[in-house]
Amino acid sequence: MRLRCPSCGSSSCVNSAESVIKAAPSLYARCVSCNDLVLDKRAQINLPDTGFDDLKCKNCGRRPLDAVMAHILSLSGGQESRPALTLQQMGTPLLSPGVPTYAPPHVGYQNLLLLTKQRIVADASDLILKQVPEVKGVIYGDMKKVFGLEDHHAAPNTCRVLAGCDVRADLVTSAYGQILVHKSQSKIHIEHNNMAKMAKLGALPIAGRVVLDALAGPGTLGLMSVLMGAQKVVLNDAWLPAVENAYLNLQANREILGIRMLRRTSTKNRAPSRAPNLYCIATTDNTRIEVYHGEFEEFNIEDSGVDLILLDSFPNTARYFIDMAEEIHRRYPGIDIVCI
Ligand SMILES: [Zn+2]
Ligand SMILES: [Zn+2]
Repeated sequence: MRLRCPSCGSSSCVNSAESVIKAAPSLYARCVSCNDLVLDKRAQINLPDTGFDDLKCKNCGRRPLDAVMAHILSLSGGQESRPALTLQQMGTPLLSPGVPTYAPPHVGYQNLLLLTKQRIVADASDLILKQVPEVKGVIYGDMKKVFGLEDHHAAPNTCRVLAGCDVRADLVTSAYGQILVHKSQSKIHIEHNNMAKMAKLGALPIAGRVVLDALAGPGTLGLMSVLMGAQKVVLNDAWLPAVENAYLNLQANREILGIRMLRRTSTKNRAPSRAPNLYCIATTDNTRIEVYHGEFEEFNIEDSGVDLILLDSFPNTARYFIDMAEEIHRRYPGIDIVCI
């Protein structure tokens, strides 16, 4: 079943986990006829020398990532053959979907989301989207900042979608299997490598337990806990775009997780509240999944039946949540709390 992107309505933004898992090994690997190009990311490059326009593979239709980036550079800021900007300075190309690559990737139609903070690239974003088929979106923002609701007492950090769509996914692997995690990338923190987190999660006794993924984001830990055999998984986040992404990820991972029923709850007549509100419910043969939108501080731990709380906070708020975890542990000594 094809899924529609809740952001742009296209059916090419959102993939099912099983289709990406199947395609992953060869998704960005060169085929026998592919052309290669590897450029120095830190040096000025002479665009005509790269031949970026002629490097599309006649067999698979893909181009080396550096050829695509050179193409984008050629559209940014005039007709110079040797632009001042290096490829590294242009921004960060995010593969869509993001899967492990073991060599310079070869990318195809709409496989790239470009995150830039260069004004001249931003100014050319419409042209880039129109003329570079590999680009699915251009967003403007600073990579070093945390995107999303870093601290719910402050305004959320988001970046601007300049052209196209910002929804992309990452394939996440643990010893228990793989899930596909979609993110509205202009509003959700970029995680480059979650292997350490998956190793930590994988070492926890999850099977048969009631797990609260308290700062769930798009749902990575919670969904993986379903694969690990939890009896019940509760996902909670104060940032609505993250909760919406978690719902999308239940749809995209429906088959992998064995979900039989998935239902949005009604938001009609609901009073605005900081306390978590039930957003959706899903069930598999063995697990009940509930997704809440609200602040963890207001979560009713006592009545929830939770016996394991996972806390995956942003680095800047880690101290705050560690203190909170200690306080919860004092009040409910039977509940395990793990900062991931
Ligand atoms: Zn989209
Ligand atoms: Zn090829």
